[in-house]
Amino acid sequence: MGRMMMFRFVNNPRRLFYIILLTCCLYGVILVLRTALDGNFEDLERSLQLFFDFSTFLLYHCDQLFRHVGQVCRHPVLPVYAPEMMKFIKKVDKFHCSSEKNWVEVNGSTAVITDQAKALNGEIECSFTDINRNNEYTTSDGLTTSTHTQYNLEASDFVKVYCKSDNGNYWNSNLAGIRHSEEIVDRIGWDQVPADALGLSVVMWGMDSISRNNFIRKLPRTYKFLTEVLGALVLEGYNIVGDGTPQALIPILTGSTELELPETRKRKGSKATYVDIYPFIWNDFRANGYVTGYVEDQPSIGTFTYRLKGFNKAPVDHYGRSFYLAAESQWHNDKRCLGSLECHKIMLQYTENLMSVYRDKPHFMLSFFAQLSHDDVNIVGTIDDDLHEWFVGVHERGFLNDTLLIVFSDHGPRFADIRQTIQGKQEERLPFFSFVFPPWFKQKHPEAYQNFLTNTKRLTTPFDIHATLKHVINFPTKFRENSLSNRSMSLFNKIPLARSCAHAQIEAHWCACLDWDILNPGDSIVQDGAKEFVKFLNNYTQPERKMCAELSLNEVIWSARLRPNQKLLAFHHSSDPDGFKPDLSGSQRATIEMLQIKLRTSPGNGLYEVSMSHNLLTGTYNIRIQDVSRINKYGNAAHCIMDSNQDLRKYCFCKELPPVS
Ligand SMILES: [Zn+2]
Repeated sequence: MGRMMMFRFVNNPRRLFYIILLTCCLYGVILVLRTALDGNFEDLERSLQLFFDFSTFLLYHCDQLFRHVGQVCRHPVLPVYAPEMMKFIKKVDKFHCSSEKNWVEVNGSTAVITDQAKALNGEIECSFTDINRNNEYTTSDGLTTSTHTQYNLEASDFVKVYCKSDNGNYWNSNLAGIRHSEEIVDRIGWDQVPADALGLSVVMWGMDSISRNNFIRKLPRTYKFLTEVLGALVLEGYNIVGDGTPQALIPILTGSTELELPETRKRKGSKATYVDIYPFIWNDFRANGYVTGYVEDQPSIGTFTYRLKGFNKAPVDHYGRSFYLAAESQWHNDKRCLGSLECHKIMLQYTENLMSVYRDKPHFMLSFFAQLSHDDVNIVGTIDDDLHEWFVGVHERGFLNDTLLIVFSDHGPRFADIRQTIQGKQEERLPFFSFVFPPWFKQKHPEAYQNFLTNTKRLTTPFDIHATLKHVINFPTKFRENSLSNRSMSLFNKIPLARSCAHAQIEAHWCACLDWDILNPGDSIVQDGAKEFVKFLNNYTQPERKMCAELSLNEVIWSARLRPNQKLLAFHHSSDPDGFKPDLSGSQRATIEMLQIKLRTSPGNGLYEVSMSHNLLTGTYNIRIQDVSRINKYGNAAHCIMDSNQDLRKYCFCKELPPVS
């Protein structure tokens, strides 16, 4: 749709509404027909439900909403330190691994016997045995090489190391680095990327089960550094689209849902294929001059191997799974340590080694860390210092000058006790997701940057990340607002204010946007709220009562209630092994709702719009001055305090008439 056309429709909400409704009906019919024709009746029910949610939403709300609100999806304001959540939050002491430092360290592609180990133990001889990938579940030993100095990784990224010293001590472990491969080096390069590429490597550092709020609570130093020093853009309206890790990573990496892609579930036996068939984004990067890497730390619950059949061939140039398979029996301290290295440092070092070996070459790396955050909301706090130090390190070494760094999580905590609280449920749906661009990006692409910044406050989803990554490979030259009919919206283009969960194809029980419930202006909740607001305004102008008239309520023009949707409140857990079907047997009720009221005061005919929270248990209203907008001109009605108390000008109607000019 052209810009002019779009403009006309936005200005005419009723017409836009009917156009959208028609499009949706068509879409719904196609979706249902397609699913039925595929003979996939298990999924037919879901398609129907999604379509139903979508239409219901539009029928009852869109027309009203377009007229009255800026942004259709309002995410709840969730206090980071809400008492409801702080019940689950406690400080956990840091842990340390073996005090005997590893005898061998990996630097890029080279494993080196350390001087410190030699100083402590005398002459050391180490044997290095390459770890080769057989398949997703087994590895085999490659050649063994013995040396007194160093070993260059070539056959594999991963080696088993056994060392003994002259004084009879010995040490062994498994190590990870980035093998040197002529085949890769010949294939990649900035001269191979498309002419319209953004010219950035992409490094994605993901951690399982961390909501945006929990990132701020448990990783405060890292958060501060990312946002204040690196200027990270944090997506505040990033909403999950399904249950668990695969339903986050599959849309990010392929732009589709698992159900839309070919069958890969293990339990479907011979009907299922390997996930190699998925159109992974790393294939696009690889085909466009990039080296690719992907590592996850928990092979027993791997994103693509737990329920799904996994990869037949290694999906990327540097695939970390074999390392973790081979290391399974060597972990100690509750699987947190391998030799003297803490589990998070192993993955951080592997990631950094890739960034360092391919420093001047385009690289795409996805590292996904779960060991310390998957099962516990607090333990991840123990790595804040190390994580912070790592980001400082890659920043100071200049690695981020030509890299798009994405620090993210797949979903918030899903532990049973937290899921029983409303805020816990909302946080589960709002994971941490952030982007760090090099400083030059903002200067070189001001419009794209500005759009991105705007989008941090809009409803965004994993599908959008996919569209954004595509744009890294082919960067647009013109920026236009995303079309509401697109499920995947690049974050370099503006996301429409009108986007709802239905547009974004987020099922209601996953949708954290608050439900708008249009209220009758005469409703006692609205009238009481409006009177509270006028009282609040009068208190605000009280110090200037000699000059500012006391206001009274003239009329309520419009009002709506915002609260978590019923399906979110009723969501208990997923009731099928794939996490597709919700059990909606819960009976939670919202205790706090947001009210939005548009009203007129007199004297002076001031038009105000205010958002306030209404506590349903105590019947009290909470109003903050920053949530009050004056929406008509106050002109010179506030002339009497213009010089003495400018802050009051939107709220003061002077008793005295303005001087005639
Ligand atoms: Zn997860």
